[in-house]
Amino acid sequence: MEHEQQYAGIESRIVAGFLIVLVLMGILAFLGLRHISEADQRLKQIVDNNNHKTELAHTMLTALHERALSMHALSIMADPFDKDAEMQRFSGYASVYLSARERLEQMPLSSREREILRRISRLMRDSNHEVQAIVDMSMENGNGALFERIRNSGLPLQRKIAAGVNDLILLQRELTDIAVKNADASYLKVRNLMVALVAAAVLIGLLITLYVSRRAGQQARRLRVQAMHDALTGLPNRSLLQDRIEQAIAHARRSGQPFCIALMDLNRFKEVNDTLGHDVGDELLREVSRRLTRLVRAEDTVARMGGDEFVLVLQGIGEPGIPRFAEKLRKALEPAFLWGKQGIDISASTGMALFPRHAEDTRSLIRYADIAMYMAKRSGRDHAVYAPDQEQISRDMLSLKSQLREAIHSDQLVLHYQPKIDHRTCRVIGLEALARWNHPEKGLLAPDNFISLAEEAGLIEDVTRWVLKTAIAQLSLLHASGHVLNMGANLSPRNLHDLGLPATIATLLAGNEVSAEHLTLEITENAVMSNAADALAILGKLDRMGITLAIDDFGTGYSSLAHLRQLPVDEIKIDKSFVIGMEENENDAVIVRSIIDLAHNLGLKVVAEGVDTRDAWDTLTILGCDHSQGFYMSEPLPAGELLQWLAEWPAIARAALQPQRHELPA
Ligand code: C2E
Ligand code: CA
Ligand code: CA
Repeated sequence: MEHEQQYAGIESRIVAGFLIVLVLMGILAFLGLRHISEADQRLKQIVDNNNHKTELAHTMLTALHERALSMHALSIMADPFDKDAEMQRFSGYASVYLSARERLEQMPLSSREREILRRISRLMRDSNHEVQAIVDMSMENGNGALFERIRNSGLPLQRKIAAGVNDLILLQRELTDIAVKNADASYLKVRNLMVALVAAAVLIGLLITLYVSRRAGQQARRLRVQAMHDALTGLPNRSLLQDRIEQAIAHARRSGQPFCIALMDLNRFKEVNDTLGHDVGDELLREVSRRLTRLVRAEDTVARMGGDEFVLVLQGIGEPGIPRFAEKLRKALEPAFLWGKQGIDISASTGMALFPRHAEDTRSLIRYADIAMYMAKRSGRDHAVYAPDQEQISRDMLSLKSQLREAIHSDQLVLHYQPKIDHRTCRVIGLEALARWNHPEKGLLAPDNFISLAEEAGLIEDVTRWVLKTAIAQLSLLHASGHVLNMGANLSPRNLHDLGLPATIATLLAGNEVSAEHLTLEITENAVMSNAADALAILGKLDRMGITLAIDDFGTGYSSLAHLRQLPVDEIKIDKSFVIGMEENENDAVIVRSIIDLAHNLGLKVVAEGVDTRDAWDTLTILGCDHSQGFYMSEPLPAGELLQWLAEWPAIARAALQPQRHELPA
C-alpha cells in the first residue's frame, strides 16, 4: 500500500515535471513569436518611413519638373498677363518643393540622407541666383538670349538638383531592401534557434527515456533477484525454492534419481532471540546459513523459509543416504556459535521427505517434510523421515488445539500437587501445582503435551488464570484444615505480558482469604531475562505484593546469577536435569554445587527438583540446598490424596530421609 502510494507520488511528479517543460517550451515559443512580431513592426515602420520619404522626394521631383516647364513657358510668353500668371505658378512650385523638403528634413534621417539633402540644398542655393536672373530677364520680354540661357545654364542646374532628389529615392529603395533583408535574417535566426531548441529538447527527451528505461530494466532485474532471495542470509527464499524443487523434480524424472527435501527448524531459537536480542538471532541465522551452504553440493539448494526454518534440496539422496547426511548435518551444527565470549549451542530438528517415494509434487514434499520435522521435535530426535502415519498424528495435534479451548471451560483440566520438603527439618513446606489434562479419549495428559499447544493457540492466559484460581482455592482449603503451606504455580513467558495479571492474583488471594506470602510463582529464567519492560513491571508489582518469585529450570538458559540479582527474585529452582545427572556426571555435580553457593551468596533460597533417589537427597543436604521436590519423596498428587499423604508424611520421612542413626528432632 505504502509502496503504491510512493509510486503514485513519482508518477505525479514526472507528469508535473513534463508539464513544466511544456510550459517552458510554450514560453520559449511565445518569446520567439514576440520577437518576430516586433521585428515585423519595426520593419513596417521602416518601410512606412521610407515610403513616406520616397513620396516626399517624388513631390520635390515633380515640383522641380513643373518649375522647369514653367521656366520654359515664361521664356516664350509675350503677353504680360500670361507671364504674370505663369510667374505665380512658378513660385507656387517653388513653395511646394520647399514644403516637401522641410517635411523631409523633419523626419528621422540617416547620415547618408542628410548628406544628400545638404547637397541638394547647396545646389538649390546656387541655382537660385540663376533662376532669379532668368525670371528677371523673362520679365523684360522674351528674346533668343533668354532661351539660350535657360537651355545652357538653367536647365542643367535643375537637372542636377533632380539627380540629387533621385539619389534620395534610390537610397530609400536601398534602405527598404536592407530592412527587409535584415528582417528576413532575423526571422531566419529565430526560426533556426527554435528548430535547434526543439531538436535538442527531443534529443534530450530521447536520451532521458533511454537512460530511464535502462535503469528501470536494471532495477527490475535487481528486484527480481531480491524477490527471490532472503534479505538476511542471501539464500533463495520460498518462491525460488519452489522453482528449484520443480527443477529437481524434472531432473529426477529424466535421470531416474531420487532426491530429498530436508526441512530444518532450529531448536530454542526464539529463546536466543528473546534473551540475547535480535542482532544475535540474526547473526546466528547467518552463521547457520553459511554452515549449510558449505555442507551441501553445488547442485543442491539451501533456502530459508522465514523465521528459523531452512529447506535443503538434496539431489540424488534416497532412503539409504539419509543417515549419513543427518550425521553430516549434526556435525556441521555441533560447534557452538560464538557471540563475544558466550558460546551458544546450535541444534536443529530436521524432517525429510523423499521424491518419488513419499510424494511427486512440491507442495506435498514440503508438507511431508514439515510433518516429519514436527515429529522429530516432538520425540526429541535431531531428524525424522516422513512416514504416512505421521500425518494422522499431526492432524491430531491440530484437533487437540481446538479441544483444549473447550477443556479449559469444561473442567477437563486438573491440578496435581508435588510437595516441597525442607532439608533441615524434613517437613513439608509447600506444594507445586502442576497441570494435567483429563482428556475424554486420551486419558490424563502431562503438561508437556498441551502447555506449548496452549501457548501456540493463544490460550495460555486462560490456562494460567484457571491454574491460579484452582491452586489458591486449594491452598485456602489446606490452610483451613491446619496445613499452613506455601503454594507454587508456574507462569509461562507469555503471562509476563499480561499487565492485568497482578490485579487478578490480588483478587483471587483476597477472595480466598490467603495472604500473598503463601504464594510462589515460578518463572523460567529466559522469560525474566528478556528484559521486556512489561515483564519487569509485572515482576515488580508481584514482588511488592509480597509474592515469592522463583526462577524455574535454572541452569538451562543463558542468564547469569549476576543478572538475576537485579531482579526481584527470592528463589532459584535448579533444573532437574542437573539433579538427576548429579550422581553419574561430575560436571552436573559441580554445577549444582556452584549454583547453591552462588545463590546463597546472593541471599536467595535454593530449591532442587527431580530428586528421585536417596543419594540425591543426601548430596543436596550436604551441599546446603534449602528445599527439594522429587519422586523420591512424592510424585505430584491429585487433590483428593493430599490430606492423607500430608498426614502420613512424618512417618515416611523418618524412614526415608533421616540419617539412619539419628532420630527425627521432636
Ligand atoms: P517444572 O515446572 O520443572 O515441573 C517439574 C516437573 O518435574 C513436573 O513435571 C514433575 O512431575 C517433574 N518431576 C518431579 N519430580 C521428579 C523426579 O524426581 N524426576 C523426574 N524425572 N521428574 C520429576 P510435569 O508435571 O510433567 O510438568 C512439566 C512441566 O510443565 C513443568 O516443569 C512446567 O514447566 C510445565 N507446567 C506444568 N504445569 C504448568 C502450569 O500450570 N502452567 C505452566 N505454564 N506450565 C506448567
Ligand atoms: Ca515449576
Ligand atoms: Ca523445573
